[in-house]
Amino acid sequence: IASDLTVSCVKHGPDPGDRAAADRPFCFRVIAPTGSTTLQAESEEEASAWVSDLQGVIAELISMGPRNPGFPGNAARETTTRRGDEKKGDEKHVALGANARKSSSGDGGGGGGDPAEALARAKKEKETGDVSADSVRAALASVPGNAQCADCGAPDPDWASLNLVVMVCHRCAGAHRHLGAHVSKVRSASLDLDAWTPPVLSLFASVGNDRANDFWEARRRDGTVAPKVLRLEAAIKEGKDERGFAGKEPEHPPPVAFDCAGDPEATIAAVTRKYVARAHVKPATATVASCVAASASLDVPALLERLVRSSTDRRDAERVARERREGLLAAVARGEEAAPVAALLLMHGARVDGDGDGGD
Ligand SMILES: [Zn+2]
Repeated sequence: IASDLTVSCVKHGPDPGDRAAADRPFCFRVIAPTGSTTLQAESEEEASAWVSDLQGVIAELISMGPRNPGFPGNAARETTTRRGDEKKGDEKHVALGANARKSSSGDGGGGGGDPAEALARAKKEKETGDVSADSVRAALASVPGNAQCADCGAPDPDWASLNLVVMVCHRCAGAHRHLGAHVSKVRSASLDLDAWTPPVLSLFASVGNDRANDFWEARRRDGTVAPKVLRLEAAIKEGKDERGFAGKEPEHPPPVAFDCAGDPEATIAAVTRKYVARAHVKPATATVASCVAASASLDVPALLERLVRSSTDRRDAERVARERREGLLAAVARGEEAAPVAALLLMHGARVDGDGDGGD
């Protein structure tokens, strides 16, 4: 029986009722309505960091509760619903940008600058409590593929879906919001500064729109949609679009909502096919890393691939939930550097429950 982290809390020390754990140092526990799970860190400092990280993630999950679908993006509503009463990140030492991918060539490289440097700046500001929208935006824009909306290719996307790990334009953000927060957790890169904790920034630095669409649009990129037709589409646009497709052979087909021209209904239909029906996703094969393997090795792109490609069939729900819980425990075992991995798992429904062994 999975417990919902939004109704859980995290406390220092082992469970008083757990005599086996009573003598273990550096313990903390996740207390849920269905039971309590005691976890052990390697030092008191690390245990404190985990407690504050998990509390932050829980607060974040709670703040992402259902919101009214709106279209297009309503900045005023975003501002009123964001969490603004808690400063986070003061005691964190997350290795930002450790897995950041650098573009091998110039194209698709984003807003320029070294992603690791931009992230280090954003992280420093987080630590001093002096975070600015500019540094968050610069850090996000420097990741490969983030110069264009992941869904329609519009330039300089300023919105993000935290759980789907894509940057999108304001029109596509409106379509994402239409899907509901249980599908896409939409945040602004300039207005929702509290959402951009070091683990979440690090998560985004490790992926980028280019890599994310390798998973979300795998079938299109694979040529399941005839490349010739897509090249023709791009050629028709030539000369009148500023999205980087004109005048050169596109490396990939344009993203799903490229032809929607900002039409709300068409955009909603395209993103629904992409993220709800997962029409362009390839099912996982044996070669895709498991949740546990990806989490234990702190491999954020591999974890995202597993999460995107895992079964959405209700009959597999129990197995998928168990995989994600095991992934979360593997992340916890790696200490606070696994915070980005844990944040991604939690946003994908990973739950800790009272039965530590899981079982069938
Ligand atoms: Zn867009």
